[in-house]
Amino acid sequence: MDRWARRWLRERKIPSTACVGCGLGQVHKKVLMAVEQLKLGVGDVVWGTGIGCAGRQTFNTWKGDNFAGTHGRVYAIATGLRTALPDDKKIILTVGDGDAFGIGLSHLLHCARRNLGVAVIVADNFGYQSTGGQYGFTTPLGCVTDSSPYGTREQGWLQNDIDILTLLKDAGATFLARHSSFEGQNAVDSVVKAIDNRGFSLVHFIYPCVTHFGAISLGSRDKEAVYRWFERLFQDGGDPRFRSGVYHDARGSRPEFAASLREWTERVSKENSTTTGKRFD
Ligand code: SF4
Repeated sequence: MDRWARRWLRERKIPSTACVGCGLGQVHKKVLMAVEQLKLGVGDVVWGTGIGCAGRQTFNTWKGDNFAGTHGRVYAIATGLRTALPDDKKIILTVGDGDAFGIGLSHLLHCARRNLGVAVIVADNFGYQSTGGQYGFTTPLGCVTDSSPYGTREQGWLQNDIDILTLLKDAGATFLARHSSFEGQNAVDSVVKAIDNRGFSLVHFIYPCVTHFGAISLGSRDKEAVYRWFERLFQDGGDPRFRSGVYHDARGSRPEFAASLREWTERVSKENSTTTGKRFD
Protein backbone atom coordinates (compact mmCIF):
# COMPACT_ATOMS: atom_id res chain seq x y z
CA MET A 1 0.00 0.00 0.00
CA ASP A 2 2.96 2.32 0.64
CA ARG A 3 3.54 3.18 -3.00
CA TRP A 4 -0.13 4.07 -3.49
CA ALA A 5 -0.14 5.91 -0.20
CA ARG A 6 2.79 8.14 -1.06
CA ARG A 7 1.36 8.98 -4.43
CA TRP A 8 -2.31 9.58 -3.64
CA LEU A 9 -3.03 9.33 0.05
CA ARG A 10 -2.34 11.61 2.99
CA GLU A 11 0.49 10.12 4.97
CA ARG A 12 -1.00 10.99 8.36
CA LYS A 13 -3.85 8.56 7.57
CA ILE A 14 -1.44 5.66 7.02
CA PRO A 15 -1.33 2.98 8.35
CA SER A 16 -4.95 2.12 7.89
CA THR A 17 -7.68 2.76 10.45
CA ALA A 18 -8.94 -0.82 10.02
CA CYS A 19 -8.26 -3.71 12.42
CA VAL A 20 -5.34 -6.02 11.63
CA GLY A 21 -6.49 -8.61 9.10
CA CYS A 22 -9.50 -6.61 7.87
CA GLY A 23 -10.22 -6.78 4.14
CA LEU A 24 -10.91 -3.04 3.83
CA GLY A 25 -7.35 -2.17 2.82
CA GLN A 26 -7.64 -4.64 -0.07
CA VAL A 27 -10.75 -2.85 -1.35
CA HIS A 28 -9.13 0.57 -1.01
CA LYS A 29 -6.04 -0.62 -2.86
CA LYS A 30 -8.10 -2.03 -5.76
CA VAL A 31 -9.60 1.41 -6.34
CA LEU A 32 -6.14 3.04 -6.28
CA MET A 33 -4.88 0.46 -8.77
CA ALA A 34 -7.82 1.31 -11.04
CA VAL A 35 -7.08 5.03 -10.69
CA GLU A 36 -3.50 4.32 -11.76
CA GLN A 37 -4.62 2.15 -14.67
CA LEU A 38 -6.84 4.99 -15.88
CA LYS A 39 -3.87 7.39 -15.55
CA LEU A 40 -5.89 9.74 -13.37
CA GLY A 41 -4.21 12.34 -11.21
CA VAL A 42 -5.09 13.77 -7.79
CA GLY A 43 -7.01 16.62 -9.47
CA ASP A 44 -9.15 14.33 -11.62
CA VAL A 45 -11.15 12.68 -8.84
CA VAL A 46 -13.53 13.74 -6.10
CA TRP A 47 -13.77 10.94 -3.54
CA GLY A 48 -16.77 10.79 -1.22
CA THR A 49 -17.20 8.44 1.71
CA GLY A 50 -20.00 7.23 3.94
CA ILE A 51 -20.19 6.11 7.55
CA GLY A 52 -18.83 3.08 9.40
CA CYS A 53 -15.68 1.03 8.89
CA ALA A 54 -15.64 1.57 5.11
CA GLY A 55 -16.09 5.34 5.38
CA ARG A 56 -13.56 5.68 8.17
CA GLN A 57 -10.94 3.69 6.26
CA THR A 58 -11.27 5.88 3.18
CA PHE A 59 -12.33 9.29 4.52
CA ASN A 60 -9.90 12.10 3.84
CA THR A 61 -7.17 9.74 2.71
CA TRP A 62 -7.33 10.94 -0.92
CA LYS A 63 -4.96 13.88 -1.41
CA GLY A 64 -7.40 15.55 -3.78
CA ASP A 65 -10.95 16.76 -3.19
CA ASN A 66 -13.02 14.57 -0.91
CA PHE A 67 -16.07 14.71 1.31
CA ALA A 68 -17.97 12.64 3.85
CA GLY A 69 -21.73 12.24 3.79
CA THR A 70 -24.05 11.41 6.64
CA HIS A 71 -25.31 7.84 6.74
CA GLY A 72 -26.85 6.91 3.40
CA ARG A 73 -26.86 10.48 2.11
CA VAL A 74 -23.57 10.57 0.28
CA TYR A 75 -25.50 10.18 -3.00
CA ALA A 76 -27.33 13.48 -2.58
CA ILE A 77 -24.02 15.34 -2.25
CA ALA A 78 -22.64 13.45 -5.23
CA THR A 79 -25.70 14.37 -7.31
CA GLY A 80 -25.11 18.06 -6.63
CA LEU A 81 -21.42 17.75 -7.45
CA ARG A 82 -22.04 15.74 -10.60
CA THR A 83 -24.36 18.39 -11.99
CA ALA A 84 -21.93 21.19 -11.08
CA LEU A 85 -18.61 19.64 -12.13
CA PRO A 86 -17.32 19.06 -15.66
CA ASP A 87 -17.99 15.65 -17.23
CA ASP A 88 -14.38 14.52 -17.08
CA LYS A 89 -14.11 14.94 -13.29
CA LYS A 90 -14.58 11.47 -11.82
CA ILE A 91 -16.66 10.94 -8.68
CA ILE A 92 -15.90 7.85 -6.61
CA LEU A 93 -17.96 6.98 -3.54
CA THR A 94 -16.79 4.39 -1.00
CA VAL A 95 -19.66 3.26 1.21
CA GLY A 96 -20.55 0.34 3.44
CA ASP A 97 -23.44 -2.10 3.09
CA GLY A 98 -25.64 -0.04 5.44
CA ASP A 99 -24.92 3.13 3.49
CA ALA A 100 -25.70 1.40 0.22
CA PHE A 101 -28.33 -1.28 0.83
CA GLY A 102 -30.00 -0.06 4.03
CA ILE A 103 -30.52 3.56 4.98
CA GLY A 104 -29.15 4.81 1.65
CA LEU A 105 -30.99 2.40 -0.63
CA SER A 106 -33.70 4.78 -1.80
CA HIS A 107 -31.11 7.43 -2.70
CA LEU A 108 -29.00 4.80 -4.44
CA LEU A 109 -31.93 3.58 -6.55
CA HIS A 110 -32.66 7.13 -7.68
CA CYS A 111 -29.02 7.55 -8.75
CA ALA A 112 -29.34 4.36 -10.79
CA ARG A 113 -32.67 5.51 -12.26
CA ARG A 114 -31.10 8.78 -13.35
CA ASN A 115 -27.92 7.06 -14.54
CA LEU A 116 -25.90 9.55 -12.51
CA GLY A 117 -22.21 9.47 -13.46
CA VAL A 118 -20.67 8.15 -10.25
CA ALA A 119 -18.76 4.99 -9.35
CA VAL A 120 -20.06 3.51 -6.10
CA ILE A 121 -17.70 1.10 -4.35
CA VAL A 122 -19.61 -0.87 -1.72
CA ALA A 123 -17.39 -2.46 0.93
CA ASP A 124 -19.70 -5.07 2.47
CA ASN A 125 -18.73 -6.75 5.76
CA PHE A 126 -22.12 -8.47 6.30
CA GLY A 127 -23.41 -6.17 9.02
CA TYR A 128 -22.86 -3.22 11.33
CA GLN A 129 -19.34 -4.09 12.37
CA SER A 130 -18.15 -0.61 13.34
CA THR A 131 -20.69 -0.51 16.18
CA GLY A 132 -19.90 -3.98 17.52
CA GLY A 133 -21.29 -6.51 15.04
CA GLN A 134 -25.07 -6.13 14.75
CA TYR A 135 -26.82 -7.83 11.83
CA GLY A 136 -27.56 -5.80 8.72
CA PHE A 137 -28.96 -6.07 5.21
CA THR A 138 -26.60 -8.66 3.78
CA THR A 139 -25.98 -10.78 6.91
CA PRO A 140 -26.64 -14.39 5.92
CA LEU A 141 -29.86 -15.82 7.38
CA GLY A 142 -29.33 -17.59 10.70
CA CYS A 143 -26.10 -15.81 11.61
CA VAL A 144 -25.40 -15.24 15.27
CA THR A 145 -24.52 -11.59 15.74
CA ASP A 146 -24.40 -9.08 18.57
CA SER A 147 -28.09 -8.27 17.97
CA SER A 148 -29.23 -11.80 17.10
CA PRO A 149 -27.76 -14.11 19.75
CA TYR A 150 -29.96 -17.01 18.55
CA GLY A 151 -29.42 -16.30 14.84
CA THR A 152 -31.03 -13.81 12.43
CA ARG A 153 -34.56 -14.54 11.24
CA GLU A 154 -34.53 -11.89 8.51
CA GLN A 155 -33.31 -12.72 5.06
CA GLY A 156 -30.82 -10.34 3.54
CA TRP A 157 -30.39 -8.88 0.08
CA LEU A 158 -28.34 -11.86 -1.04
CA GLN A 159 -30.42 -14.97 -0.51
CA ASN A 160 -33.57 -16.88 -1.41
CA ASP A 161 -33.66 -15.66 -5.01
CA ILE A 162 -33.05 -12.06 -4.04
CA ASP A 163 -29.99 -10.25 -5.30
CA ILE A 164 -29.57 -6.56 -4.65
CA LEU A 165 -27.75 -6.19 -7.98
CA THR A 166 -30.93 -7.28 -9.80
CA LEU A 167 -32.81 -4.48 -8.10
CA LEU A 168 -30.15 -1.96 -9.16
CA LYS A 169 -30.15 -3.31 -12.71
CA ASP A 170 -33.93 -2.93 -12.90
CA ALA A 171 -33.59 0.59 -11.52
CA GLY A 172 -31.39 1.52 -14.49
CA ALA A 173 -27.74 1.11 -13.43
CA THR A 174 -25.44 0.82 -16.43
CA PHE A 175 -22.55 -1.08 -14.84
CA LEU A 176 -22.64 -3.59 -11.96
CA ALA A 177 -20.04 -6.05 -10.69
CA ARG A 178 -19.35 -8.17 -7.62
CA HIS A 179 -16.04 -9.37 -6.21
CA SER A 180 -14.36 -10.47 -3.04
CA SER A 181 -11.77 -8.09 -1.62
CA PHE A 182 -9.02 -10.68 -2.02
CA GLU A 183 -9.35 -11.06 -5.79
CA GLY A 184 -6.78 -9.73 -8.21
CA GLN A 185 -6.75 -7.99 -11.56
CA ASN A 186 -10.31 -8.99 -12.57
CA ALA A 187 -11.62 -6.95 -9.63
CA VAL A 188 -9.42 -4.00 -10.59
CA ASP A 189 -10.73 -4.26 -14.17
CA SER A 190 -14.30 -3.93 -12.89
CA VAL A 191 -13.39 -0.81 -10.92
CA VAL A 192 -11.70 0.62 -14.03
CA LYS A 193 -14.91 0.08 -16.02
CA ALA A 194 -16.99 1.57 -13.21
CA ILE A 195 -14.91 4.74 -12.94
CA ASP A 196 -14.70 5.09 -16.71
CA ASN A 197 -18.46 4.64 -17.26
CA ARG A 198 -20.38 7.82 -18.09
CA GLY A 199 -23.28 6.67 -16.01
CA PHE A 200 -24.16 4.93 -12.76
CA SER A 201 -21.80 2.12 -11.75
CA LEU A 202 -21.56 0.03 -8.63
CA VAL A 203 -18.96 -2.55 -7.63
CA HIS A 204 -20.01 -4.69 -4.69
CA PHE A 205 -16.98 -5.93 -2.73
CA ILE A 206 -17.50 -8.51 -0.01
CA TYR A 207 -14.67 -8.43 2.51
CA PRO A 208 -13.81 -10.30 5.71
CA CYS A 209 -14.34 -8.60 9.07
CA VAL A 210 -12.20 -10.62 11.43
CA THR A 211 -12.99 -8.65 14.58
CA HIS A 212 -16.77 -8.97 14.76
CA PHE A 213 -18.24 -11.12 11.98
CA GLY A 214 -15.35 -13.54 12.34
CA ALA A 215 -15.38 -13.64 16.12
CA ILE A 216 -19.16 -13.65 16.67
CA SER A 217 -20.71 -15.27 13.59
CA LEU A 218 -17.92 -17.63 12.55
CA GLY A 219 -16.65 -18.29 16.05
CA SER A 220 -13.04 -17.42 15.27
CA ARG A 221 -10.91 -14.36 15.02
CA ASP A 222 -8.20 -16.35 13.34
CA LYS A 223 -7.50 -14.56 10.08
CA GLU A 224 -6.82 -17.71 8.07
CA ALA A 225 -10.01 -19.41 9.19
CA VAL A 226 -12.10 -16.32 8.48
CA TYR A 227 -10.57 -15.83 5.03
CA ARG A 228 -11.08 -19.51 4.17
CA TRP A 229 -14.80 -19.14 5.02
CA PHE A 230 -15.12 -16.12 2.73
CA GLU A 231 -13.10 -17.80 -0.05
CA ARG A 232 -15.51 -20.75 -0.01
CA LEU A 233 -18.38 -18.34 -0.75
CA PHE A 234 -16.71 -17.43 -4.05
CA GLN A 235 -15.62 -20.92 -5.04
CA ASP A 236 -16.75 -22.30 -8.40
CA GLY A 237 -19.97 -24.20 -8.13
CA GLY A 238 -21.02 -22.26 -5.05
CA ASP A 239 -23.93 -19.88 -4.71
CA PRO A 240 -24.27 -18.01 -8.04
CA ARG A 241 -24.84 -14.76 -6.15
CA PHE A 242 -21.24 -14.95 -5.00
CA ARG A 243 -19.89 -15.44 -8.48
CA SER A 244 -17.19 -12.87 -9.17
CA GLY A 245 -17.25 -10.64 -12.15
CA VAL A 246 -19.35 -8.27 -14.16
CA TYR A 247 -23.04 -8.71 -13.40
CA HIS A 248 -24.44 -6.17 -15.85
CA ASP A 249 -22.72 -4.06 -18.50
CA ALA A 250 -24.90 -1.56 -20.36
CA ARG A 251 -22.37 1.25 -20.58
CA GLY A 252 -23.33 3.82 -23.16
CA SER A 253 -26.93 2.61 -23.43
CA ARG A 254 -28.53 5.58 -21.66
CA PRO A 255 -27.69 9.28 -21.35
CA GLU A 256 -25.84 10.29 -18.21
CA PHE A 257 -28.08 12.43 -16.01
CA ALA A 258 -25.94 15.53 -15.45
CA ALA A 259 -24.78 15.74 -19.07
CA SER A 260 -28.35 15.46 -20.39
CA LEU A 261 -29.53 18.01 -17.83
CA ARG A 262 -26.84 20.46 -19.00
CA GLU A 263 -27.78 19.89 -22.62
CA TRP A 264 -31.47 20.46 -21.85
CA THR A 265 -30.73 23.61 -19.83
CA GLU A 266 -28.70 25.06 -22.71
CA ARG A 267 -31.48 24.27 -25.17
CA VAL A 268 -34.18 25.80 -22.98
CA SER A 269 -32.04 28.91 -22.33
CA LYS A 270 -31.42 29.34 -26.06
CA GLU A 271 -35.10 28.96 -26.89
CA ASN A 272 -36.07 31.36 -24.13
CA SER A 273 -33.58 33.96 -25.32
CA THR A 274 -35.10 33.93 -28.80
CA THR A 275 -38.70 33.92 -27.58
CA THR A 276 -38.40 36.34 -24.65
CA GLY A 277 -39.44 39.33 -26.73
CA LYS A 278 -42.47 37.55 -28.13
CA ARG A 279 -43.64 36.36 -24.74
CA PHE A 280 -43.37 39.55 -22.77
CA ASP A 281 -43.67 42.38 -25.27
S1 SF4 B 1 -14.56 -4.01 12.85
FE1 SF4 B 1 -14.37 -5.51 11.18
S2 SF4 B 1 -14.85 -4.38 9.30
FE2 SF4 B 1 -14.43 -2.87 10.91
S3 SF4 B 1 -12.26 -2.38 10.67
FE3 SF4 B 1 -12.40 -4.05 12.20
S4 SF4 B 1 -12.18 -5.96 11.01
FE4 SF4 B 1 -12.64 -4.31 9.56
